[in-house]
Amino acid sequence: MTTIASNLQAVRDAIVAAAKLAGRHAEEVSLLAVSKTFPSNAVREAYLAGQTRFAESYVQEAIEKIDKLHGLDIEWHYIGPIQTNKTRAIAENFSWVHSVDRFKIAERLSRQRPTHLPPLQVCLQVNISLETSKSGVEPDNAEPMAIEISKLPNLTLRGLMAVPAPSDDFNLQRESFEQLRKLRDRLNLKGLQLDTLSMGMSHDFSAAIAEGATMVRIGTAIFGDRIYLKGAT
Ligand SMILES: *Cc1c(COP(=O)(O)O)cnc(C)c1O
Repeated sequence: MTTIASNLQAVRDAIVAAAKLAGRHAEEVSLLAVSKTFPSNAVREAYLAGQTRFAESYVQEAIEKIDKLHGLDIEWHYIGPIQTNKTRAIAENFSWVHSVDRFKIAERLSRQRPTHLPPLQVCLQVNISLETSKSGVEPDNAEPMAIEISKLPNLTLRGLMAVPAPSDDFNLQRESFEQLRKLRDRLNLKGLQLDTLSMGMSHDFSAAIAEGATMVRIGTAIFGDRIYLKGAT
């Protein structure tokens, strides 16, 4: 077994254990392998070990990998910051976008989504740790934005995504994820149909699963530590 394959297996086992502790079925939690900064060969290695959903954070880097791997049956998710001039490339190349936090961006993604493709599946990114992060809509503004986005023709609003402030304390991690879950529940009471909670990364996915995560986004625990190159977009 390669390192990536055995890391993947360990992550899968940990997801099963966390789901079991939470009284949930492990099949309710899908694993996104976050391959940003890693080469297409690392993605291929994970794919050969059975992983089919991958997430990327930098548009140009992602598209190079998507092109190289186009023969493989991979579902690509975009989880990074979205600049206005990158929406077309995102709309054309990804199945999911987790990091929508402005209506204007959602509107462009809907307009630029090629009509021969299924609707783009999107999550609204919510800033649940207001003091530490700049991305994401403020929780108080999430409802009107979610309602407007849900009306766009070529998108399907699936749920909420968050990147809480990092913490080593399981209970603090849980509290952040609980906020996102409760917000999702309130929006559903207002008539939205959000089935997705995209939350949990390498250091906190067990707490996220305890609070109802349906997608965990895991990079380091699968591929190892990232080395960032300057100027990646
Ligand atoms: C990089 C990234 C991840 C993966 O983080 P790890 O700690 O490596 O698991 C998850 N979500 C987002 C939005 C990211 O940018």
